[in-house]
Amino acid sequence: MDRLLNGIKDFQLNYYKEEEESFKALAKGQSPEVLFFACSDSRVDPNMITQSKPGDLFIVRNVGSIVPDCGPHWKKSCTGAAIEFALQSLSVSDIVVCGHSDCGAMKALYQDPDSFKDSPNLKEWVDTAAHVKGLIDATNDKPTFKKLIEITTKEHILESLENLKSYPIIADAIKAGKLNLHGWYYDLGNGSVHIYNSKEDSFEQIAHHSNGEESFHTHSSETKERTCTHEA
Ligand SMILES: [Zn+2]
Repeated sequence: MDRLLNGIKDFQLNYYKEEEESFKALAKGQSPEVLFFACSDSRVDPNMITQSKPGDLFIVRNVGSIVPDCGPHWKKSCTGAAIEFALQSLSVSDIVVCGHSDCGAMKALYQDPDSFKDSPNLKEWVDTAAHVKGLIDATNDKPTFKKLIEITTKEHILESLENLKSYPIIADAIKAGKLNLHGWYYDLGNGSVHIYNSKEDSFEQIAHHSNGEESFHTHSSETKERTCTHEA
């Protein structure tokens, strides 16, 4: 903890002083353009990997960067609340779902269920994404475990994008051309970020687009549609 407490002092003496005007402006309100879903993993820092600042990202973090669909789970998570606030009050124009390599939540999908006997909440939450495994099993031959986790994570990101569309407020915003969805995969080891290109149906490293106009790719909104079963 000492390191954190010293960090607070350092922040106030240095970073805050240098950015004092922008902090005073932020104290009056926020207007981020992006709702960002990220994993709780301590190695993932959305502001760092995008070199953005306070006020730039409205961030939802949870174990596995899981976006439950608009069904019973949304009552148990902050997802629905964050989506409503981000779209209605902040008018964000983009939503990013960012998964990452070596994700413990994705690994947990392949663990022995008995290993969760003392962590029922974790088990229930991670199982929100469990059906992604079925997609993997059907399409891949014996990858290494590391590769299996990468494939699972990428499928999970796409599934989360589809789940986002099950929220009527998101479906309406996409239909109105006011909102774009993006799937990102962050590789912890080399710092690369791979963005889903729906035209190619693949994740592409953002460095490949560093000089281009197309740094972001909109996930197709023409795929399967879901119906919200939640009663308002
Ligand atoms: Zn994770």
